Amino acid sequence: MSEAFPPDSPLVARVAPSPNFGERRGYARPDCIVLHYTGMPTAESALALLTAPAGNVSCHYFIWEDGEIAQLVPEHKRAWHAGIGQWSGVRDVNSASIGVEIVNPGHDGGLPAFPQAQIDATIALVRNIAARWAIRPERVLAHSDLAPARKRDPGERFPWNALARAGVGHWVEPAPIVDGPLFGPGQEGPPVRALQAMLALYGYGIELTGVYDAPTRAVVAAFQRHFRPARIDGEADASTVATLRALIDGLKKS
Ligand SMILES: [Zn+2]
Repeated sequence: MSEAFPPDSPLVARVAPSPNFGERRGYARPDCIVLHYTGMPTAESALALLTAPAGNVSCHYFIWEDGEIAQLVPEHKRAWHAGIGQWSGVRDVNSASIGVEIVNPGHDGGLPAFPQAQIDATIALVRNIAARWAIRPERVLAHSDLAPARKRDPGERFPWNALARAGVGHWVEPAPIVDGPLFGPGQEGPPVRALQAMLALYGYGIELTGVYDAPTRAVVAAFQRHFRPARIDGEADASTVATLRALIDGLKKS
């Protein structure tokens, strides 16, 4: 049994301690929040994995479908939820973040909708964490934002727009989808490099190759999954580019 600890948030219903954590390295405090889905058939199997002594994964918070919240790792410790990834030049995302696992079987389980009670709890918890650590709205991220080639969670059915209406996270209304892709896989040149530069400016880990390569397609798909979920095809259509531009403009004003 891992040792119990006092919860960091009054929203926590119970502490389910995980032994899978370490010390934060190079970051005295978390400055982003990473949202995940559990991606397993049941909540029980996911919680068992995240708290198993032999496991090598964990998170700080775990949110059931009915909105109950458990804390697994103290916030000042480094939980093991993000794996290999990067955001805004940060490569040890676990050291710089708070990880929240939201119970949902994920794409492999048909990606069912997130119940309202679960979303309400997520909004309340993220707001509470962000307020205590002064975490900026644009630092509330999807796991897929950090690791576009590896991860799809919490997925395109996660209601980022509902979070934004409640004042949580960074969001603009997606630009309408119109016919015809601007550019996509296989193309190259200055417009592709400009797109890559915009994605990097917003925070995505992307090389400015000037070629619409497989990593670029994965990053564009991750962007769409979070910010333009009506169509996820990895192609830089006008709606995708306009939505990205509006988000960047929003950063400049804030
Ligand atoms: Zn994840």
